[in-house]
This record gives sequence, C-alpha cells and structure tokens, in this order.
Amino acid sequence: MSSVASLPTERSTTRNWRPRVSHARPGVDHVAAEQAATDLLVALGLDLENENLAETPRRMAQALIEMTSGPDFDLTTFPNDEAYDELVLVQDIPLQSLCEHHILPFVGVAHVGYLPGERILGLSKFARMVELHARRPQTQERLTQRIADHLQDALAPQGVGVVIQAEHTCMTLRGARAPGARTTTSALFGRLRDDPRSRSEFLALTRSTP
Ligand SMILES: [Zn+2]
Repeated sequence: MSSVASLPTERSTTRNWRPRVSHARPGVDHVAAEQAATDLLVALGLDLENENLAETPRRMAQALIEMTSGPDFDLTTFPNDEAYDELVLVQDIPLQSLCEHHILPFVGVAHVGYLPGERILGLSKFARMVELHARRPQTQERLTQRIADHLQDALAPQGVGVVIQAEHTCMTLRGARAPGARTTTSALFGRLRDDPRSRSEFLALTRSTP
C-alpha cells in the first residue's frame, strides 16, 4: 500500500473555483489485499480454519482499504462579496488516520482556519478536506502541512492555519505505552504566520481543546 501525494485534480493558470478533488492513489487490488491479510494472520499463528476467523482476512483488508480511501468532493468556494477579512475557524473536526511507520491509527481533532482573500470556502468543505488528506498512511506532521498547502492553493487566502491534536496508538497501545499522550502539530501561512495579532488570535483559539 503506497502513500501518494494528493493534489487538486484540476490545476491550471485560469483558476477553477469549484475543482473536483479526489484521493490520488493507485488502484486497489482487493484480492491481493485479502490474500496478504490471510498470509499475515497465519504467520502470526492464527487458525483461520476456526469458523470465527474464517472471514477475518476479508474484513481486515476491507477495513484497511476503507481507512486509506478518502472522499471525492467539489471544493466549493464563493466570492467574498462582503470583503470579510477576519478569521474563519472550524474547530474540533474529527480526524482519524494511520501512522505510516506501524499502520496503526492515530485519532484526534483538527482545527482549520483562514483569513479570506477574494474567495471564501463552503464551511462543510473543511471536514471534507481533513478527511481527504487523513485517509492514508502518513505522519501527523505531513498531514498538517498537506491540508494547509491545499487550502493555500485552492483559496489563495491572506492566511491559513491548521492545528492537529492526536493520540497515536502506536505509542499509547504499544512501545512507550503512554495512554493519553497527545501530539500537537501546526502549519501556518501568510498573515497567520507573520502578523503577530492574527497569529496569537489563531493559536489562542486552537490551544489545547480536550
Ligand atoms: Zn507509528
């Protein structure tokens, strides 16, 4: 299973304000995934002859495919007719992804904000954007950056900020076994990075929600 950078499917010099975005990845081989799940479970010593486990390889493959397939959607934007130029912030967007080092889930929330330029983004698209980028194996750092990059590219706003807080099960359920430990990452662009007032407003609003 490879992780491929997702980019807006339509990129051109004449900007399209309602681009269809999709999860750019190679085709999924369901049969090979199920066989590989079978091989792994047998190698781990599980008895797949047991009736309770007979369908497990298929379910396991299906679950992993689902967790690495993001939604296609239209990234709808609107003209900023009222010239709104204060922070737009959507907080506590549920987030689940897979760490690329262990293929184990990390789960948390994303806070996504921007300072509008000439266009504003449909509010429901923030959660779609997070889900699109979350559903693949990766690091939390890269995920944070990708969401910010995509918003910057799609909206050309005055500033973009993304904060992610997540618990990594590869650290909390195994290895260091530090349950409750959360990792915070952020990516800031434009005025949210460079203007002290905007930056501190954004960071204060996104600080440590439970
Ligand atoms: Zn990990």
